[in-house]
Amino acid sequence: MPKTRSRDEIRSLFKAKKVPLTHQRLAVYEELSARHDHPSAESLHESLRKDYPSLSLATVYKTLQTLHRMGVVARVDSPTSQARYDAIVETHHHAVCTACGRIRDLFDASLDRLPAPRTPGFAVSGHSVHFHGLCADCAKASGSKTR
Ligand SMILES: [Zn+2]
Ligand SMILES: [Zn+2]
Repeated sequence: MPKTRSRDEIRSLFKAKKVPLTHQRLAVYEELSARHDHPSAESLHESLRKDYPSLSLATVYKTLQTLHRMGVVARVDSPTSQARYDAIVETHHHAVCTACGRIRDLFDASLDRLPAPRTPGFAVSGHSVHFHGLCADCAKASGSKTR
């Protein structure tokens, strides 16, 4: 399973890019990489607020943008309008619950090797497959079955 970046890797990356790494920025990254639910900025802010009472939602947004530009955080499409974030930037795929918006990681070598279709006038740089459906909780709530 692909790993997220260690604290030292993040430190040296910020140093190389000459971006100041504040405690708050590091905390945003570490909280994101500790979670596997692809949280939104709001959700990260909610859980970091206890330890960082002065951390604003705007700072969380800006930090996520900075980390995204640096290539250590990915954005994930979600059925809700909120952007969701992922500390795993290597190719992987997602199972997305259309009822609650839960996003689960899927690692599958055959999906990684999916051949790109011909796309004239478009340069493909990568791909990520999203499977839509219901998570176990939502399936139970709606009475349908998951395998
Ligand atoms: Zn669900
Ligand atoms: Zn993911």
